[in-house]
Amino acid sequence: MNDVRNDGPVDATLVPRYAGIATFMRLPVAASAVGHDVVFAGVPYDGATTNRPGTRHGPREMRSQSALIRRVNANGVAPYERLSVADIGDCPTNPFDIRETLEMIEAFFADVRTAGAVPIAAGGDHLISLPILRALAKDRPVALIHFDSHSDTGPGYFGVNPYTHGTPFRRAVEERLIIPERTVQIGIRGSVYSKGDLDFARDAGFRIIEMEEAMDLGPRAIVEEARRVVGEAPVYVSFDIDCIDPSAAPGTGTPEIGGFTTREAQRMVRGLAGLPIIGADVVEVSPPLDVGGITALAGATMMFELLSAIAAG
Ligand code: MN
Ligand code: MN
Repeated sequence: MNDVRNDGPVDATLVPRYAGIATFMRLPVAASAVGHDVVFAGVPYDGATTNRPGTRHGPREMRSQSALIRRVNANGVAPYERLSVADIGDCPTNPFDIRETLEMIEAFFADVRTAGAVPIAAGGDHLISLPILRALAKDRPVALIHFDSHSDTGPGYFGVNPYTHGTPFRRAVEERLIIPERTVQIGIRGSVYSKGDLDFARDAGFRIIEMEEAMDLGPRAIVEEARRVVGEAPVYVSFDIDCIDPSAAPGTGTPEIGGFTTREAQRMVRGLAGLPIIGADVVEVSPPLDVGGITALAGATMMFELLSAIAAG
Protein backbone atom coordinates (compact mmCIF):
# COMPACT_ATOMS: atom_id res chain seq x y z
CA MET A 1 0.00 0.00 0.00
CA ASN A 2 1.14 3.55 -0.62
CA ASP A 3 2.28 5.83 2.16
CA VAL A 4 0.25 8.90 1.26
CA ARG A 5 -3.06 8.70 3.06
CA ASN A 6 -6.17 10.78 3.35
CA ASP A 7 -8.94 10.76 5.87
CA GLY A 8 -11.46 9.17 3.55
CA PRO A 9 -14.99 10.47 3.11
CA VAL A 10 -16.32 13.62 4.70
CA ASP A 11 -17.61 12.87 8.20
CA ALA A 12 -21.40 12.82 7.96
CA THR A 13 -21.68 13.62 11.67
CA LEU A 14 -20.04 16.97 10.91
CA VAL A 15 -21.32 17.75 7.41
CA PRO A 16 -24.73 16.35 6.45
CA ARG A 17 -24.82 13.96 3.51
CA TYR A 18 -26.80 16.35 1.34
CA ALA A 19 -24.35 19.21 1.83
CA GLY A 20 -21.08 20.03 0.18
CA ILE A 21 -19.65 19.42 -3.28
CA ALA A 22 -20.52 15.99 -4.66
CA THR A 23 -17.59 13.60 -5.10
CA PHE A 24 -17.58 9.82 -5.31
CA MET A 25 -18.33 8.48 -1.79
CA ARG A 26 -17.73 12.04 -0.46
CA LEU A 27 -14.01 11.45 -0.88
CA PRO A 28 -11.39 14.17 -1.25
CA VAL A 29 -10.66 15.34 -4.77
CA ALA A 30 -7.12 14.69 -5.94
CA ALA A 31 -5.36 16.27 -8.91
CA SER A 32 -3.90 12.90 -9.90
CA ALA A 33 -3.72 9.29 -8.79
CA VAL A 34 -0.22 9.71 -7.40
CA GLY A 35 -0.03 8.50 -3.82
CA HIS A 36 -3.34 6.69 -3.81
CA ASP A 37 -4.14 2.98 -3.83
CA VAL A 38 -7.51 3.25 -5.57
CA VAL A 39 -9.04 6.16 -7.45
CA PHE A 40 -12.54 6.84 -8.69
CA ALA A 41 -12.86 8.67 -12.00
CA GLY A 42 -15.72 9.70 -14.23
CA VAL A 43 -15.72 9.12 -17.97
CA PRO A 44 -18.62 11.26 -19.21
CA TYR A 45 -18.87 10.04 -22.79
CA ASP A 46 -21.82 8.50 -24.63
CA GLY A 47 -20.88 9.09 -28.24
CA ALA A 48 -20.64 5.35 -28.93
CA THR A 49 -24.24 4.66 -27.89
CA THR A 50 -26.34 2.85 -30.49
CA ASN A 51 -29.76 3.63 -29.06
CA ARG A 52 -30.97 5.82 -26.19
CA PRO A 53 -28.19 8.16 -24.96
CA GLY A 54 -27.59 9.97 -21.69
CA THR A 55 -24.74 8.12 -20.01
CA ARG A 56 -22.53 11.19 -20.38
CA HIS A 57 -24.45 12.38 -17.33
CA GLY A 58 -23.67 9.19 -15.40
CA PRO A 59 -20.60 10.26 -13.42
CA ARG A 60 -22.16 13.43 -12.02
CA GLU A 61 -25.33 11.67 -10.89
CA MET A 62 -23.46 8.70 -9.44
CA ARG A 63 -21.37 11.15 -7.44
CA SER A 64 -24.56 12.71 -6.12
CA GLN A 65 -26.20 9.38 -5.21
CA SER A 66 -22.98 8.05 -3.68
CA ALA A 67 -23.42 10.53 -0.84
CA LEU A 68 -25.82 7.97 0.63
CA ILE A 69 -23.06 5.38 1.01
CA ARG A 70 -21.36 5.15 4.41
CA ARG A 71 -17.80 4.26 5.33
CA VAL A 72 -18.10 0.60 6.26
CA ASN A 73 -19.73 -2.00 4.04
CA ALA A 74 -22.50 -4.21 5.39
CA ASN A 75 -20.17 -7.22 5.11
CA GLY A 76 -17.74 -5.58 7.53
CA VAL A 77 -15.19 -4.38 5.00
CA ALA A 78 -13.86 -0.91 5.87
CA PRO A 79 -12.02 0.11 2.69
CA TYR A 80 -10.73 3.47 3.90
CA GLU A 81 -8.93 1.86 6.83
CA ARG A 82 -6.81 -0.15 4.40
CA LEU A 83 -6.58 2.00 1.30
CA SER A 84 -5.98 5.59 0.36
CA VAL A 85 -8.81 6.44 -2.00
CA ALA A 86 -9.63 9.65 -3.88
CA ASP A 87 -11.86 11.05 -6.60
CA ILE A 88 -9.62 12.24 -9.43
CA GLY A 89 -12.41 13.93 -11.32
CA ASP A 90 -13.53 13.33 -14.87
CA CYS A 91 -11.42 12.07 -17.72
CA PRO A 92 -11.26 14.60 -20.59
CA THR A 93 -13.37 13.65 -23.61
CA ASN A 94 -14.35 15.21 -26.93
CA PRO A 95 -18.08 14.71 -27.44
CA PHE A 96 -17.68 15.31 -31.18
CA ASP A 97 -14.76 12.97 -31.90
CA ILE A 98 -14.83 9.29 -30.96
CA ARG A 99 -11.27 8.45 -31.96
CA GLU A 100 -9.79 11.43 -30.15
CA THR A 101 -11.85 10.48 -27.10
CA LEU A 102 -10.43 6.95 -27.20
CA GLU A 103 -6.94 8.47 -27.10
CA MET A 104 -7.86 10.86 -24.29
CA ILE A 105 -9.27 8.07 -22.14
CA GLU A 106 -6.28 5.82 -22.74
CA ALA A 107 -3.85 8.61 -21.82
CA PHE A 108 -5.78 9.47 -18.64
CA PHE A 109 -5.80 5.88 -17.38
CA ALA A 110 -2.20 5.30 -18.44
CA ASP A 111 -1.32 8.03 -15.94
CA VAL A 112 -3.35 6.22 -13.28
CA ARG A 113 -1.48 3.01 -13.99
CA THR A 114 1.88 4.78 -13.91
CA ALA A 115 0.93 6.16 -10.50
CA GLY A 116 0.40 2.62 -9.28
CA ALA A 117 -3.27 3.12 -8.42
CA VAL A 118 -6.22 0.88 -9.28
CA PRO A 119 -8.92 2.84 -11.15
CA ILE A 120 -12.66 2.38 -10.70
CA ALA A 121 -14.27 4.25 -13.57
CA ALA A 122 -17.83 5.52 -13.88
CA GLY A 123 -19.20 5.69 -17.41
CA GLY A 124 -20.21 6.69 -19.84
CA ASP A 125 -21.20 4.07 -22.35
CA HIS A 126 -19.51 0.69 -22.53
CA LEU A 127 -17.00 1.65 -25.20
CA ILE A 128 -14.98 3.36 -22.45
CA SER A 129 -13.82 -0.07 -21.26
CA LEU A 130 -11.74 -0.47 -24.42
CA PRO A 131 -9.40 2.52 -23.99
CA ILE A 132 -9.14 1.79 -20.26
CA LEU A 133 -8.02 -1.75 -21.12
CA ARG A 134 -5.56 -0.31 -23.64
CA ALA A 135 -4.06 1.72 -20.82
CA LEU A 136 -3.98 -1.11 -18.29
CA ALA A 137 -3.30 -4.19 -20.40
CA LYS A 138 -1.31 -3.21 -23.46
CA ASP A 139 1.83 -5.04 -22.37
CA ARG A 140 0.11 -8.13 -21.02
CA PRO A 141 -3.46 -9.30 -21.56
CA VAL A 142 -5.65 -9.62 -18.48
CA ALA A 143 -8.60 -11.72 -17.38
CA LEU A 144 -12.06 -10.17 -17.60
CA ILE A 145 -15.19 -10.51 -15.50
CA HIS A 146 -17.99 -8.88 -17.43
CA PHE A 147 -21.48 -8.36 -15.98
CA ASP A 148 -23.92 -7.43 -18.73
CA SER A 149 -27.09 -8.44 -20.49
CA HIS A 150 -25.17 -8.02 -23.76
CA SER A 151 -21.97 -9.65 -24.95
CA ASP A 152 -20.65 -6.43 -26.50
CA THR A 153 -18.65 -8.45 -29.03
CA GLY A 154 -20.36 -7.20 -32.17
CA PRO A 155 -18.32 -6.55 -35.31
CA GLY A 156 -19.35 -2.91 -35.77
CA TYR A 157 -22.29 -0.75 -36.66
CA PHE A 158 -23.41 1.02 -39.79
CA GLY A 159 -20.90 -0.91 -41.81
CA VAL A 160 -17.60 0.63 -41.01
CA ASN A 161 -17.60 1.95 -37.46
CA PRO A 162 -15.69 -0.52 -35.29
CA TYR A 163 -16.13 1.55 -32.13
CA THR A 164 -19.53 1.40 -30.46
CA HIS A 165 -20.71 0.40 -26.99
CA GLY A 166 -21.63 -2.95 -28.53
CA THR A 167 -18.10 -3.83 -29.66
CA PRO A 168 -15.48 -3.16 -26.93
CA PHE A 169 -14.73 -6.78 -26.02
CA ARG A 170 -14.36 -7.92 -29.63
CA ARG A 171 -11.80 -5.17 -30.12
CA ALA A 172 -10.17 -6.17 -26.83
CA VAL A 173 -9.71 -9.72 -28.12
CA GLU A 174 -8.35 -8.52 -31.46
CA GLU A 175 -5.93 -6.20 -29.69
CA ARG A 176 -4.88 -8.95 -27.25
CA LEU A 177 -5.89 -6.88 -24.23
CA ILE A 178 -7.88 -9.70 -22.63
CA ILE A 179 -7.25 -13.44 -22.36
CA PRO A 180 -10.32 -14.99 -24.05
CA GLU A 181 -10.18 -18.24 -22.09
CA ARG A 182 -9.93 -16.22 -18.87
CA THR A 183 -12.95 -14.10 -19.74
CA VAL A 184 -16.38 -14.70 -18.22
CA GLN A 185 -19.59 -12.92 -19.21
CA ILE A 186 -22.39 -13.04 -16.65
CA GLY A 187 -26.10 -12.36 -17.17
CA ILE A 188 -26.27 -12.37 -20.97
CA ARG A 189 -29.87 -12.33 -22.18
CA GLY A 190 -32.36 -10.60 -24.41
CA SER A 191 -33.13 -10.72 -28.09
CA VAL A 192 -30.25 -10.53 -30.56
CA TYR A 193 -29.79 -9.48 -34.16
CA SER A 194 -29.14 -13.03 -35.37
CA LYS A 195 -28.68 -16.53 -34.00
CA GLY A 196 -24.93 -16.25 -34.36
CA ASP A 197 -24.51 -13.13 -32.22
CA LEU A 198 -22.59 -14.96 -29.50
CA ASP A 199 -20.46 -17.01 -31.91
CA PHE A 200 -17.49 -14.66 -31.78
CA ALA A 201 -17.31 -14.77 -28.00
CA ARG A 202 -17.82 -18.54 -27.85
CA ASP A 203 -15.32 -19.25 -30.61
CA ALA A 204 -12.79 -16.98 -28.91
CA GLY A 205 -13.13 -19.08 -25.76
CA PHE A 206 -15.17 -16.87 -23.45
CA ARG A 207 -17.17 -18.57 -20.69
CA ILE A 208 -20.67 -17.18 -21.17
CA ILE A 209 -23.10 -17.60 -18.29
CA GLU A 210 -26.41 -16.73 -19.89
CA MET A 211 -29.25 -15.75 -17.60
CA GLU A 212 -30.99 -19.12 -17.85
CA GLU A 213 -27.87 -20.82 -16.49
CA ALA A 214 -27.30 -18.01 -13.99
CA MET A 215 -30.76 -18.65 -12.54
CA ASP A 216 -29.93 -22.32 -12.09
CA LEU A 217 -26.53 -21.63 -10.55
CA GLY A 218 -27.37 -18.77 -8.19
CA PRO A 219 -24.92 -16.05 -7.09
CA ARG A 220 -22.59 -18.28 -5.08
CA ALA A 221 -21.98 -20.79 -7.88
CA ILE A 222 -21.70 -18.03 -10.48
CA VAL A 223 -18.90 -16.48 -8.47
CA GLU A 224 -17.19 -19.85 -8.03
CA GLU A 225 -17.29 -20.38 -11.77
CA ALA A 226 -16.04 -16.85 -12.48
CA ARG A 227 -13.12 -17.36 -10.10
CA ARG A 228 -12.31 -20.70 -11.74
CA VAL A 229 -12.26 -19.08 -15.18
CA VAL A 230 -10.02 -16.13 -14.29
CA GLY A 231 -7.68 -18.18 -12.12
CA GLU A 232 -4.71 -16.25 -10.75
CA ALA A 233 -4.47 -13.79 -13.63
CA PRO A 234 -4.73 -10.03 -13.11
CA VAL A 235 -8.37 -9.25 -13.73
CA TYR A 236 -10.45 -6.33 -14.96
CA VAL A 237 -14.07 -6.13 -13.83
CA SER A 238 -16.60 -4.43 -16.07
CA PHE A 239 -20.08 -3.90 -14.69
CA ASP A 240 -22.78 -2.83 -17.15
CA ILE A 241 -25.73 -1.62 -15.08
CA ASP A 242 -28.14 -3.28 -17.52
CA CYS A 243 -27.19 -6.67 -16.07
CA ILE A 244 -29.60 -5.60 -13.32
CA ASP A 245 -33.30 -5.89 -14.05
CA PRO A 246 -34.85 -2.68 -15.41
CA SER A 247 -37.33 -2.72 -12.52
CA ALA A 248 -34.37 -1.80 -10.31
CA ALA A 249 -32.20 -0.07 -12.91
CA PRO A 250 -34.45 1.62 -15.46
CA GLY A 251 -32.01 4.41 -16.23
CA THR A 252 -30.04 2.77 -19.01
CA GLY A 253 -30.08 2.92 -22.78
CA THR A 254 -30.70 -0.71 -23.73
CA PRO A 255 -32.66 -2.33 -20.90
CA GLU A 256 -33.41 -6.07 -20.99
CA ILE A 257 -36.06 -7.58 -18.76
CA GLY A 258 -35.31 -10.71 -16.74
CA GLY A 259 -32.20 -9.37 -15.04
CA PHE A 260 -30.44 -9.72 -11.71
CA THR A 261 -31.75 -8.09 -8.57
CA THR A 262 -29.48 -5.50 -6.97
CA ARG A 263 -29.10 -7.95 -4.09
CA GLU A 264 -27.81 -10.68 -6.38
CA ALA A 265 -25.43 -8.24 -8.06
CA GLN A 266 -24.06 -7.12 -4.71
CA ARG A 267 -23.54 -10.70 -3.63
CA MET A 268 -21.64 -11.52 -6.80
CA VAL A 269 -19.35 -8.49 -6.64
CA ARG A 270 -18.65 -9.20 -2.97
CA GLY A 271 -17.67 -12.68 -4.06
CA LEU A 272 -14.78 -11.23 -6.07
CA ALA A 273 -12.93 -10.23 -2.88
CA GLY A 274 -9.30 -11.20 -2.96
CA LEU A 275 -8.92 -11.41 -6.73
CA PRO A 276 -6.02 -9.40 -8.20
CA ILE A 277 -8.27 -6.66 -9.61
CA ILE A 278 -6.25 -4.18 -11.69
CA GLY A 279 -9.17 -1.96 -12.63
CA ALA A 280 -12.94 -1.82 -12.89
CA ASP A 281 -15.78 0.17 -14.31
CA VAL A 282 -19.51 0.70 -13.87
CA VAL A 283 -21.06 1.80 -17.14
CA GLU A 284 -24.31 2.58 -18.95
CA VAL A 285 -26.05 4.55 -16.18
CA SER A 286 -28.21 7.12 -18.00
CA PRO A 287 -29.67 9.68 -15.57
CA PRO A 288 -32.10 11.25 -18.08
CA LEU A 289 -33.83 7.85 -18.28
CA ASP A 290 -33.68 7.18 -14.56
CA VAL A 291 -36.49 7.19 -12.00
CA GLY A 292 -35.80 8.83 -8.68
CA GLY A 293 -32.07 8.23 -9.03
CA ILE A 294 -32.34 4.50 -8.30
CA THR A 295 -30.14 3.45 -11.22
CA ALA A 296 -27.44 5.92 -10.30
CA LEU A 297 -27.67 4.72 -6.69
CA ALA A 298 -27.27 1.12 -7.85
CA GLY A 299 -24.28 2.12 -9.98
CA ALA A 300 -22.62 4.10 -7.19
CA THR A 301 -23.20 1.23 -4.78
CA MET A 302 -21.58 -1.23 -7.19
CA MET A 303 -18.57 1.09 -7.30
CA PHE A 304 -18.40 0.87 -3.51
CA GLU A 305 -18.76 -2.91 -3.68
CA LEU A 306 -15.88 -3.05 -6.17
CA LEU A 307 -13.77 -0.89 -3.85
CA SER A 308 -14.67 -3.19 -0.97
CA ALA A 309 -13.72 -6.29 -2.99
CA ILE A 310 -10.34 -4.70 -3.71
CA ALA A 311 -9.90 -3.69 -0.07
CA ALA A 312 -10.75 -7.18 1.14
CA GLY A 313 -7.97 -8.67 -1.02
MN1 MN B 1 -22.43 -3.39 -22.18
MN1 MN C 1 -25.57 -4.03 -21.78
